[in-house]
Amino acid sequence: MSQTEPVSTAETLGFQAEVKQLLHLMIHSLYSNKEIFLRELVSNASDACDKLRFEALDQPDLLQGDSDLHIRVEYDKDARTITISDNGVGMSREEAIANLGTIARSGTKEFFSQLTGDKQKDTQLIGQFGVGFYSSFIVADKVSVLTRRAGEGQEAVLWESTGEGEFTIAAAEKEGRGTSITLHLRPDEDEFLDGWRLRNVLRRYSDHISLPVQMRKEEWDEEKGEQAKQEEWESVNQANALWTRAKSEISDEQYAEFYKHIAHDFEDPLAWTHNRVEGRSEYTQLLYVPKKAPFDLWDRDARRGVKLYVKRVFIMDDAEQLLPAYLRFVRGVIDSADLPLNVSREILQESRDVRAIREGSAKRILSLLEDLAENKPEQYAEFWTQFGQVLKEGAGEDMGNQARIAGLMRFASTHNDTALQNVSFADYVGRMKEGQDKIYYVTAESYAAASHSPHLEVFRKKGIEVLLLSDRVDEWMLSYLREFDGKSLVSVAKGGLDLDAMADEEEKKHQAEVAETFKPFVERLQATLGDKVKEVRITARLVDSPACVVVDANELSPHLLRMLQAAGQEAPEVKPILEINPDHALIARVQQAEDADFEEWSLLLLEQAMLAEGASLQDPATFVKRVNRLLLQA
Ligand code: ADP
Ligand code: MG
Repeated sequence: MSQTEPVSTAETLGFQAEVKQLLHLMIHSLYSNKEIFLRELVSNASDACDKLRFEALDQPDLLQGDSDLHIRVEYDKDARTITISDNGVGMSREEAIANLGTIARSGTKEFFSQLTGDKQKDTQLIGQFGVGFYSSFIVADKVSVLTRRAGEGQEAVLWESTGEGEFTIAAAEKEGRGTSITLHLRPDEDEFLDGWRLRNVLRRYSDHISLPVQMRKEEWDEEKGEQAKQEEWESVNQANALWTRAKSEISDEQYAEFYKHIAHDFEDPLAWTHNRVEGRSEYTQLLYVPKKAPFDLWDRDARRGVKLYVKRVFIMDDAEQLLPAYLRFVRGVIDSADLPLNVSREILQESRDVRAIREGSAKRILSLLEDLAENKPEQYAEFWTQFGQVLKEGAGEDMGNQARIAGLMRFASTHNDTALQNVSFADYVGRMKEGQDKIYYVTAESYAAASHSPHLEVFRKKGIEVLLLSDRVDEWMLSYLREFDGKSLVSVAKGGLDLDAMADEEEKKHQAEVAETFKPFVERLQATLGDKVKEVRITARLVDSPACVVVDANELSPHLLRMLQAAGQEAPEVKPILEINPDHALIARVQQAEDADFEEWSLLLLEQAMLAEGASLQDPATFVKRVNRLLLQA
């Protein structure tokens, strides 16, 4: 590129289709909270300085003698512009095109799918989906970005756009590295051309940022009768990293604002914990539990959210080694005094200090949640709705804390008439019947399926509570969690339920007699169903249903088998045990059937028991024909 022909380097490029859509949205509907553009731009400037500081650890030349990093905000009443500048890492031409012209983020699609048309809510999504830069167009009808990448021989570029589908990029002149963003305000946005207003917004949004955010000093000009700008710069924020301050010096509002900055969230956090840990390993942790689950909570590759600093120098985002995966919803900062500044992800994996940090942080979060559950049950319920399914993963992932995690779990239960998960193991244990020494549960695809399970009938009759589990993670969790408080967890859908302890003498006698009387019938059923079942037997667990299917206590539950199959995994074949209710009228009817009909009735009993349990039939059409034939006979 020759210096004499700068024009040849100018190009006009189209925005990626999704950016266009986003810009359109910003400009036309996201008006209710305009000032967030300042938060987003200052936050980007701060990130750019963090990046430079980090790169300079290896390449000190990048600083070129200018290590006094700062962010500056200026306004020009006559030109009707606001300019936000930083001396951070800057952007090359390619970076400017990629970062400001496309949305590489996988989150963009979700962003659009979550739009509601409710402006207030939609604005909140902007930060969360990392599309912050474009918020400039809420107040500006033209944005100019003059930027130069840090380093020897880098050329400056000027990126400009009116936000209407295209942007231009051209070679430019700029003294020093960094980025300077000029917003040409829309006609009715003059309110931001005011030093007092800008200072106010900046203080609110950037007090926690560790860099100085500066504006020109202003003094009253008697002659003109207005504030007049001076040459000197002054800081408008405290400019020390929030987590390094004493707890007593930080207001709730400041904690919340810092959370919004690091989490890209618009809402306040639900709770936080801030501690300086001293001892074998020394670090500061400031960890937050958000109010709402992020859109990518279930994405295994999603960002994890805890930022790592070493002695106040930013090292990396989403350092996943700092927290166990089941706490991936936690956001925050960990600042270590022990780790080397050039720490890499590989080193993090091996480090004993990191292990100590991870264990310490997990304990702090569990304490925070226990405190919430105990003292602010309503907030805890909110938390559980959003993150309960993730926390349950901890029962398998963090054996050391398993009992504490179990204590935090909440379930739907036959004790309540609601799908709300609000019963703890401790609640359950407190209500156990005399002679009961087990915690009973049922798993199913949905709350409705669980709460209508035929397996619950005898428990309902005897007034024994059963926990109703229908989250996807439950079966997996239960393969790790076997007991609570010394009481084993038992599925009511598995064979060999030891209900004897709760049966009275009369019931026991009745059951023994019935078993004797029904022996021939059971044998006949067994012979007719052949290898479709593992066994047929009489049960005392049913009241309203004629039959149900169960599996042996040591076998995989049918619900789990179906989940494995749905996930494309090989699942062993488990034949059901058919249990029949000797007191049911339908059983009496089947007993009277002639041989030809008997097979039809037997199959019907088995098929309807499987349907009630949530299974799908291999041959539903034949089942329907069978039902119709028998109905017509009746
Ligand atoms: P996010 O900050 O979540 O990445 P933004 O839309 O706010 O998303 O910014 C997009 C990208 O543009 C940033 O990731 C960064 O690479 C680049 N960028 C924005 N502002 C600056 C800046 N002041 N200096 C350097 N790069 C910047
Ligand atoms: Mg940003």
